[in-house]
Amino acid sequence: MPSDSERIERAGRGIPRVSILMTGAGGGHLASAQSLEEALEGCARVTLVNVLDERARFPFDHLSDSYAPVVAIAPDLYRLAYKVVQTPVGLRLLENGAYALLWREMAAAITDTRPDVVISVHALLNDVPLRAIRQAGCAAPFVSAVVDGGVPPVSWFTRHADLCCVADEGIRRLAIDAGMPADRVAVTGLPVRRAFVEARGLAKEDARRTLGVEPTLPLVLVMSGGAGMGRVGAMATAVARRLAGGGVRAQMAVITGGNERLRRRLAGSDWPVPVTVLGFTPDVATWMAASDILLTKAGPGTIAEAACLGVPTLLTGFVPGQEEGNVAWAEDNGGAVFEPRPKRAAALVGRWLGSDRGELERMSAWMSAMGRPGAARAIAGAALELLAR
Ligand code: UDP
Repeated sequence: MPSDSERIERAGRGIPRVSILMTGAGGGHLASAQSLEEALEGCARVTLVNVLDERARFPFDHLSDSYAPVVAIAPDLYRLAYKVVQTPVGLRLLENGAYALLWREMAAAITDTRPDVVISVHALLNDVPLRAIRQAGCAAPFVSAVVDGGVPPVSWFTRHADLCCVADEGIRRLAIDAGMPADRVAVTGLPVRRAFVEARGLAKEDARRTLGVEPTLPLVLVMSGGAGMGRVGAMATAVARRLAGGGVRAQMAVITGGNERLRRRLAGSDWPVPVTVLGFTPDVATWMAASDILLTKAGPGTIAEAACLGVPTLLTGFVPGQEEGNVAWAEDNGGAVFEPRPKRAAALVGRWLGSDRGELERMSAWMSAMGRPGAARAIAGAALELLAR
């Protein structure tokens, strides 16, 4: 059987160009885009197109920067705005408004890369860029890679997309209910970067050795998305106190992502157990592989990565509206536990690492069952398949 790239080459098209639409908001879009770029290596020339931060006019070029501060300062407002955009009227107003204001610059940003296929990994970059490139005369197939779990925002499901890749059967049904033709919806799983797939064979002790932390001490990893939002500091502090107070032998790592102020504060704190504090790290995969428990907000990217590695996961919060559906999704499919109160979350961690090790083994098996290590390759293959038709 010829591979997709061979079939495309034989059809005289040469190596296809794939443009992936993303933004810098949070860390999930970048990680998803990178996972697809890796999966397409050798089969396509890939360009990541950051259509808002780098190519849109003021104030749209600041939407990504303002994401974390807005969620932190005005969570209820963010939830309200999110809910409005989930209604048919709200969504139409947003998309038509954004189209009127942005279509030219968005079309230029994408068509400048001369794509053979366009893949979106951003909930708000579907209908508008798709209409924009068609208006500009670009007929490249358009793929919505829905990198959300639970109940993804309806803006993902633009019925004119050539393909919509989703995490599981439940989301496939939501896509069809939202108007996507059934034959254009593929269940692929959520894509994770290659490092996570490769770290699946890594023993915890070896991963800890690689990271330069005590190899034999259980490790609790605390993080909260690419921007380090939410109650990372309070969670980490409560867990450290509980471990020390309960005489549980363990160590911790805290990844603050892009939240540099938090990193400085936590790095300067006095911890009662060994704690490694990191800012934004490209090596989350090894840290997860080294961990016995992960505490995180309900970000879809982080949940998919923990599932790929079978890391028992305690969800400590969510981005209002947007990530609320991920909680039940990870609980039902991955045996994750939701506990936003730091003291109670710390008590669970203390119990699991103390007397209830069996629970961690069960949680790990559930998370593994949810993992889809082949998702990035499946999405990449399905996108190239559109060209081979
Ligand atoms: N991430 C990373 N380095 C860090 C912190 C986070 O690479 O220091 C990655 C993490 O592995 C995941 C993504 O950022 O792939 C976070 O995605 P998620 O959907 O969980 O949340 P978001 O940041 O998009 O809100």
